[in-house]
Amino acid sequence: MPEHRVTLIPGDGIGPEVVQATQRVIAAAGVPITWEECAAGASVFRQGLASGVPQSTIESIARTRVVLKGPLETPVGYGEKSANVTLRKVFETYGNIRPVRELPGVPTPYQGRGIDLVVIRENVEDLYAGIEHMQTPDVAQCLKLISRQGCEKIVRLAFAYARSEGRKKVHCATKANIMKFTEGMLKRTFEEIAPEYPDIEAHHIIIDNCCHQLVRHPEQFDVIVTTNMNGDIMSDLTSGLIGGLGFAPSANIGNHVAIFEAVHGSAPKYAGKDTINPTALILTGVLMLRYLREFSAAAAIEHAVLATLEAGLYTRDVRADAGAIGTSAFTDAVIAHLGQTSSRWTVREQQPLELPKESAPTAMTRLKSRQTIGADIFIEADLDPVTLGESLQEISAPTPLHLKMISNRGTKVYPPTAAVPDCVDHWRCRFVLNDPQAELTDAALLDLLNLIAARYRWMHLEKLCDFDGSPAYTRAQGED
Ligand code: NAD
Repeated sequence: MPEHRVTLIPGDGIGPEVVQATQRVIAAAGVPITWEECAAGASVFRQGLASGVPQSTIESIARTRVVLKGPLETPVGYGEKSANVTLRKVFETYGNIRPVRELPGVPTPYQGRGIDLVVIRENVEDLYAGIEHMQTPDVAQCLKLISRQGCEKIVRLAFAYARSEGRKKVHCATKANIMKFTEGMLKRTFEEIAPEYPDIEAHHIIIDNCCHQLVRHPEQFDVIVTTNMNGDIMSDLTSGLIGGLGFAPSANIGNHVAIFEAVHGSAPKYAGKDTINPTALILTGVLMLRYLREFSAAAAIEHAVLATLEAGLYTRDVRADAGAIGTSAFTDAVIAHLGQTSSRWTVREQQPLELPKESAPTAMTRLKSRQTIGADIFIEADLDPVTLGESLQEISAPTPLHLKMISNRGTKVYPPTAAVPDCVDHWRCRFVLNDPQAELTDAALLDLLNLIAARYRWMHLEKLCDFDGSPAYTRAQGED
């Protein structure tokens, strides 16, 4: 049997307990693994390293390419980035896979309905690119970046994952009705790629309806693919459907590295008490063994977990009475059930996960035409919209551009409308060329900007372009 090398990050709080439980179960299932133990998280932050991830840990992961990790504490409010997000981004683990299924005897309002679904969340783009700026002292901005390449990778991963588990249906959940370019990019990519997988049903669903359906009829879903923030929230909701964080495993998959961790955090108040539930990380270990193509050991451990629960053995998160057992006793029970199967609870047949090929840079969209027709200039001003609008019209009069409209937090407020938004000091001022056939030059735009800067503080600029004749920008609410 080939020996595997895996980087092991015990993590913070309850991390070392659940990690040790998982190592013991994997060893008892007979899979030889050489663990490279590495640090990340709270202890590293305390040593003054702002990323929370030392170079030696990065080097170990670059070598082994597979990580089993406990939860890492994220300091709140003093500027450091999350060590979890750093690891996901440094190794471009673009796909977060979170399976949930009903488990024997674990009480939920959905018991007996056979929930068995997987949320596949894009893991590195979207609002989590972490590009934030204070635009004025009172207005903050976070950029939602979604790339065609990122969408293609996550959509293909969702279909490949469905195939590897013999699943028949993939839903793509987006907010494309409101964010037509960003969320719409995932919807369009999904609809283009789905016909390449004729064996799998493909449906688009609006994310809010998806959440409603998840609460009412969760058993209808098989695989759900979604953008980063939607997936973050929705996958915690799906963990709740099957009995909570103690049972929710996850995998972060990239083209070169995979990081396996439970969905839950470091639960500091339970650290070292031998009470928490190790199932989430043990099932995460099952996902890791499948990734390492140790299919029979993975199935044996999943069967053992099912048999242990079926035998009525539970930790305190499931039963609050004296019958609950501790973390190590539960782990011993799983080990004792290795080799047993349940007649009622099955384990899915698995095929190797065929990761989508990396797309070449030439796959990027090449436009036939691109025309710059104006610009949105964002201005900080403590004025009413009519005073600001009239002054900007006067400022732009000698230039080839004119003020088309001003919006405040996305709603058109100039030329005046009957709208009554509660305006803040952050104005998007849309200038377009007087001649719609012309091309806006940088020199003309900079002339306008200099004229504006003589009177106002501007903090942001976006060019308005037509891509192949279609606007590559959206209208303001109320703009015609
Ligand atoms: P948490 O998941 O640590 O705990 C929330 C609650 O869930 C706990 O109080 C406990 O009641 C329950 N719970 C969690 N895991 C359990 C288990 N294995 N068994 C039984 N019950 C369990 O969430 P939190 O309190 O919001 O976060 C604590 C810390 O963990 C924070 O610093 C946070 O940033 C970090 N965190 C890390 C990760 C990660 O490393 N991937 C994920 C989430 C949170």
